[in-house]
Amino acid sequence: MYVETELSVCVDCMQLIANDETPPDWTGEQTDKWLEQIANYFGPDQSGVSLGDSAKDDEFSIYACDFCGSTLAGERFHCIELKTEKIDL
Ligand SMILES: [Zn+2]
Repeated sequence: MYVETELSVCVDCMQLIANDETPPDWTGEQTDKWLEQIANYFGPDQSGVSLGDSAKDDEFSIYACDFCGSTLAGERFHCIELKTEKIDL
């Protein structure tokens, strides 16, 4: 069974989710650290994240990105996280 969680992500994470692109102006070290933060957040049970409802995007938010934890204020994009839930039968 899948469980859907709504996420609000920053523009960098949106590019990663939508196009599998990392910010081009970052060093390899910055990019690796960022990807590691995302991997730590999800852990091994992560099934996938996709873009959600663009009507729920925020033009400006001061809240941290739910994906990488960035506290830079700015646009946030609505995404859906699908997680596999273990069920005891
Ligand atoms: Zn982010």
